[in-house]
Amino acid sequence: METASSLIVETWIRYNQQNMRKLSEKDLKLIEEARKAVKNNYDGELHTVGAALRCKNGRIYTGVNIYSIHGACAEQIALGTAITNGEREFETIVAVRGRDGEEIIPPCGNCRQILHDYMPECRMIIQTQGGPMKTKAGNLLPFAYSTMP
Ligand SMILES: [Zn+2]
Repeated sequence: METASSLIVETWIRYNQQNMRKLSEKDLKLIEEARKAVKNNYDGELHTVGAALRCKNGRIYTGVNIYSIHGACAEQIALGTAITNGEREFETIVAVRGRDGEEIIPPCGNCRQILHDYMPECRMIIQTQGGPMKTKAGNLLPFAYSTMP
């Protein structure tokens, strides 16, 4: 029997499938930049994830996670670096994990909130059953809490 919550989940999955986009050459390059970031800093413990964020002007900012009890994710470091450099318009972001950044990973819950707040229109590259695809960051956090004024 279909419950209200399973209907919401099904609707959300269908909505996201409709909003998934194939990757461009620029997106493949962005994944490579994220891989470079983690390859150059991977230590198997404190720095295991790399992220790369492409701005609308084409500039790319990267970051690695800073593991701690209240550490920062690689996406947050990349976004913070971009903002520190004056960027405010973002196009696509990706995070990868592993010594060679071999695994494309989805954003954690906290990052989904940050992406939703700062760049809901920005595309996030995620791994799907059909391979890596991209969708608007805002699509990854339905019924989001609004923290921005
Ligand atoms: Zn995160």
